[in-house]
Amino acid sequence: MTDTDLADHSVVLVTLDSCRYDVAASAHTPNLETLGPLLRAESPGTYTLPAHAALFNGYLPRPVTETLTIGGRSVDAIWRSAAARSSNRQVDIPFNGPALMAHYEGQGYRVVGAGGVTFFDSADPANSLPGLFPEFHYFGRLSRAPATPEARVVDRDEDLPLAHIRMLADLCLEADRFFLFVNCPSTHIPYTTPFSPLTEQTSELLRRLYRLHDSQQDTSGDDALTPEDIEVLLGMQRRALEWADVRLGDLFSRLGTRHPLVVVCADHGEEFGEGGRFGHGHPHPTVSTVPLWCGVLGGVGCPEVSGQRSNTMIL
Ligand SMILES: [Zn+2]
Repeated sequence: MTDTDLADHSVVLVTLDSCRYDVAASAHTPNLETLGPLLRAESPGTYTLPAHAALFNGYLPRPVTETLTIGGRSVDAIWRSAAARSSNRQVDIPFNGPALMAHYEGQGYRVVGAGGVTFFDSADPANSLPGLFPEFHYFGRLSRAPATPEARVVDRDEDLPLAHIRMLADLCLEADRFFLFVNCPSTHIPYTTPFSPLTEQTSELLRRLYRLHDSQQDTSGDDALTPEDIEVLLGMQRRALEWADVRLGDLFSRLGTRHPLVVVCADHGEEFGEGGRFGHGHPHPTVSTVPLWCGVLGGVGCPEVSGQRSNTMIL
């Protein structure tokens, strides 16, 4: 398979919203690992809007030390927009449109988006990101709904995009080639999924954490979290990622025969008081350092992983 072939592949682009790199490194993610090694990368954005604006312009989080590889082959850059400054980097998929979605739509791909954090609420005319897609499916809290503790600290299942894998995969498989984007809010506060349901303890911790996010203040005061409290909350994000890994495994199985190029990363991380603040939207290594996996699905004869056939093929 030659370099130019990558430009003809269908694409699955997934953002694990707010997922910290150290959480990903400690989680059990056998399906993501079939894509390739977990890379430690740096995002150009500290919150959802700028991080996705860069991503949709082809600017992936950049690996810090390791080289980006796809099927064992080193890749300087997967995508590069004509709007980017000139560079000597070797690019697999240069494009001229204003965003990846316009490029792929112009190539005749079916372009489908799905999301769950409020920047992707397609019913809100102030949101620019879902409008970049000809077809977008939003699952989640209305962006203009009152942000009360009762509305935010909730269990989540069917209102998570990855609970709708079959529908999203069927939409893709109706077309010869597809570009599927999924923003996954499962790893975003409140970190609730079927693997990480609320308890009395976590409900109370999450209410305090939301107040710390909102105030952007230090750890003093009534809402101060102990190291043990923070470990419980990071454990929720870890379990939320492991739930996403299972759902993505189902997606990979359904789409594997189409050999899509798959990129999975966080848009940004999350600070838990390491620099005195909580949340994201500000520069700190815990916010800018994110996990990244890349690969191509649909290998034949690859080793078995976690009871499933590996989905990765070698380019
Ligand atoms: Zn985000």
